[in-house]
Amino acid sequence: MNVLKFGGTSVGTVESLKNVRSIVEALPSDTVVVVSALGGLTDRLIATARLAAEGGDWRTEADAIAERHYIIIEELVRPDRKQSTLTVVGSLLDELRRTYEGVSLIGDLPAKTLDVIVSLGERMSAPIVAGIIKNGHLHNSLDFIKTEKWFDKNIADASLTRDLIIKEFVDIEKGPHVTGGFISQDRDTGEITNLGRGGSDYTAALIAAALDADMLDIWTDVDGFMTADPRIIKDAIVLPAMSFIESMELCTFGAKVIYPPTIYPVFHKNIPIRILNTFNPTAPGTLISDASCAKEYPVKGVTAIRNTCLVRLSGNLTENVAGINTRAYNALARNGVSVFLLAQPGENHEFSFAIASADRQVATRALNEEFAPELIDGALDSISFEDGLSTIAVVGEGIRHLKGVNGRILNTLMRFGIKPLACSEGNSDTTFSFVVEEKDTVGAIKAIHGLFF
Ligand code: ADP
Ligand code: ASP
Ligand code: MG
Repeated sequence: MNVLKFGGTSVGTVESLKNVRSIVEALPSDTVVVVSALGGLTDRLIATARLAAEGGDWRTEADAIAERHYIIIEELVRPDRKQSTLTVVGSLLDELRRTYEGVSLIGDLPAKTLDVIVSLGERMSAPIVAGIIKNGHLHNSLDFIKTEKWFDKNIADASLTRDLIIKEFVDIEKGPHVTGGFISQDRDTGEITNLGRGGSDYTAALIAAALDADMLDIWTDVDGFMTADPRIIKDAIVLPAMSFIESMELCTFGAKVIYPPTIYPVFHKNIPIRILNTFNPTAPGTLISDASCAKEYPVKGVTAIRNTCLVRLSGNLTENVAGINTRAYNALARNGVSVFLLAQPGENHEFSFAIASADRQVATRALNEEFAPELIDGALDSISFEDGLSTIAVVGEGIRHLKGVNGRILNTLMRFGIKPLACSEGNSDTTFSFVVEEKDTVGAIKAIHGLFF
């Protein structure tokens, strides 16, 4: 059996939903379909919530949101399901209005309230899509996607979620099954949570892994995984195949095609992923599996993470490189901060690594605590932070066999007048990454993409 996930643009309009319907209705009844909110709706739900908190006219926005759902129900939901779908979606729209009303009255938008508001996107799209597809059987993902608190984040409780998914889909033949992605419920408090922006991919992966699916199909609005973001590189190439590791690296370093945590659960079960285009369903797409096709495509792509912060430890540190790096890395990990680039030590024993700018405050505290003895005895002069940067990554399992590849990348940057502020230590065989000023992001991607493709 296959698990299919349709993103926002795929479920955004009457026309795109007709494509979804014909794709799903051509498949066996044991198919599971995971859907996002209508395209752009999550952003709009958030913007309207902020508007309500500021005392703005949220009612006009709420009316437009309602109208968009009603048009799709009217045009596409099967006649025998129309009334029940209208009832369900109508009461969710009432809940949305009441919540906005409350936000507007108190003039504040607590995080938990925002979680409830954004959840309504998928809570409405799922019954609509179930009502469009012949024999569509609706499942409430809040019943089986459970999260736990990890620092200030909500992360999936993988084993509880797996057990609940197996129970929920026990009658797998009686589908096709439809459920909302992204949304979840806190296993302890019962509060509505979510898996993070773009998280519907992850919901689909958790279901595919729990049910031992044959394939996870991510249906989106491009022909497959490309060598760069097609919005930046107009002639980016669609890759026929890549390995799990390569896709994981590309997505971790900013390729928006798949939400990064998605890959691990299916990789673990060796379930291949296909990236397919809802608007061009006969295109072959990209197959992500344990094979890399490294001969044909040694390099798979160039990506960027904006909002990078470079952390520098400078001073007369006597401890070895590995020791310092490990201590910094562990101190950050204990505080929920991930490091996406460890740089080669600089000339005057400067250690630097890249983190997300959003983690700067937590990182400052964690590193000052960890290195307090060195800061006091003078072995460490300072811990400094530089924002306004981007991390660029070049990914491919064949990269390690290319002669002098790091030098070629650095020379190319130089020719384009771009100065890397830090380069990865080469701790991954698959990825070479470096940090540049944010203003050089597009220039660096273009230069490196031109070098390899
Ligand atoms: P969905 O709503 O279907 O989840 P997303 O917007 O999350 O879709 O992801 C698909 C988008 O990712 C594409 O429209 C494309 O603009 C963007 N993208 C960024 N990098 C890449 C890449 N390397 N290959 C393909 N698409 C990419
Ligand atoms: N609707 C959510 C978002 O826009 C989840 C998703 O689309 O994957 O982030
Ligand atoms: Mg997405």
